[in-house]
Amino acid sequence: LFSALRAAFPADLDRIALTVWDQEGQPAYTWRDLERGSAMLANLFADLGLQPGERLALQVEKSVEALMVWLACLRSGLVLVPLNPAYQAAELTHFLKDAEPRILVCAPETFGRHSSLAFQLGVGWVFTLGAERQGTLLERASFHADQHRPLPRQAGDPAAILYTSGTTGVSKGAVLTHGNLLSNARTLVEVWGWQPQADVLVHALPIFHVHGLFVASHCALLSGSSMRWLQRFEPAAVCSALQGATVFMGVPTLYTRLLAHAGFTRAAAASVRLFISGSAPLQAETFDEFEARIGQRILERYGMSETGMLTSNPLNGPRVRASVGPALPGVQLRIAEPDAESVGSVEVKGPNVFAGYWKRPELNASEFTPDGYFRTGDMGRLDAHGYLHLVGRAKDLVISGGFNVYPAEVEMHLNELPGVQESAVIGLPHPDFGEAVTALVIPLPGAQLDEAVLIAAMRRRLAAFKCPKRVLLATELPRNAMGKVQKKLLREQHAQLYR
Ligand code: ATP
Ligand code: MG
Repeated sequence: LFSALRAAFPADLDRIALTVWDQEGQPAYTWRDLERGSAMLANLFADLGLQPGERLALQVEKSVEALMVWLACLRSGLVLVPLNPAYQAAELTHFLKDAEPRILVCAPETFGRHSSLAFQLGVGWVFTLGAERQGTLLERASFHADQHRPLPRQAGDPAAILYTSGTTGVSKGAVLTHGNLLSNARTLVEVWGWQPQADVLVHALPIFHVHGLFVASHCALLSGSSMRWLQRFEPAAVCSALQGATVFMGVPTLYTRLLAHAGFTRAAAASVRLFISGSAPLQAETFDEFEARIGQRILERYGMSETGMLTSNPLNGPRVRASVGPALPGVQLRIAEPDAESVGSVEVKGPNVFAGYWKRPELNASEFTPDGYFRTGDMGRLDAHGYLHLVGRAKDLVISGGFNVYPAEVEMHLNELPGVQESAVIGLPHPDFGEAVTALVIPLPGAQLDEAVLIAAMRRRLAAFKCPKRVLLATELPRNAMGKVQKKLLREQHAQLYR
């Protein structure tokens, strides 16, 4: 993977590869900086005696140097384990025990706590890396040569273990190979029309997750395109970065926050040829409001930690509201056990599909079909044009009185009711129905909503068994770092509602 990325660097290595947009003085990094920085880190790792296949856990704030650590892992054959910096000691303990890294790189301010924990758990080395180039990792690396010959790697060699977001339960480590990541990156560069050395990506996503680390960074690197790097998402900073840029990627909450910002105008986005959304469902309202304001359609795509990207709306051709588009080239996608409405489990196969879960033989047995398809855990249907429409996760499916209710359908109707900003539909234990369809609704600012009125309005739109038995008004929905609604948490909080 490193060799492929490196081969895409421009011949003139002194061109700017990355600008840190939201840092004092907007520091710039050339392609040579990426080459040299990752070489020095790789030489340090070799000097520490780290062997190919050993894990490096990285729990730091977003920085260009953190991206260099990823490149250095690729050069050295080390397996990167990126971790959300928000994780606290108990969570970190779980991940360190599971991944058994030889080396941990953490934020300077957490060194005291994390190093004692790491040493108890047998991690060999702990270094620090701050968001502004401080810390022991760079100090040590600075003593090493800036030339390094990458270790040859095969397509099947592991490159990273990515922990899933834990939306449906405990996070699982997905082992991704060099071949998985490279094939997916090549496909995305192709289908999204990345222009060699000409695109400019505004990168405002965290880099401990597939979206920011692989989808965004790899598309830019593999096309030799430059990035404007924002360490934090902030609408005004994004708007300034968009001037002259060509591509933006965001999770749906980033789009709603941009739309809530008055400075996000057609003029501010005029140079951008492509806005991409993924990681969580993009509401139809957001899609429409965006098109009305900016005059472009957001391109929605779908993927997951285990597989990288699976489907995408087209670059040229219809981008359909509330659909994640057809399967990407090379991805085989099918709907297993479709019901009367053609909705079933989404199963996939392809060079992008991961090698398996780390240390979870029982999941590897249950989550792959006998003919080698991976069960994504998502439910959906394919339309006549081969576009996939997701209706929710298998684990969020509500079975009420023996009938299947797909939360996404109910949410879509709720969101269209006057005064509703957004909603989340869950199933809660109910003495008669088994599970009762239950909605949490966030009112628009200033709207006065009434539970009975909302339920009556839903009864006019949907079959009775799909209508919420209760509608609870709330001020916000619990979300994780990628903007995914934590339905498991909601089910736990309201478990007693009908008891
Ligand atoms: P866990 O597997 O631990 O429960 P997770 O599935 O949320 O967590 P990720 O791998 O980060 O962990 O997320 C992948 C999931 O995100 C997909 O399975 C799908 O449910 C959801 N997703 C991604 N893109 C979209 C999209 N465009 N629309 C709807 N859902 C999406
Ligand atoms: Mg998942």
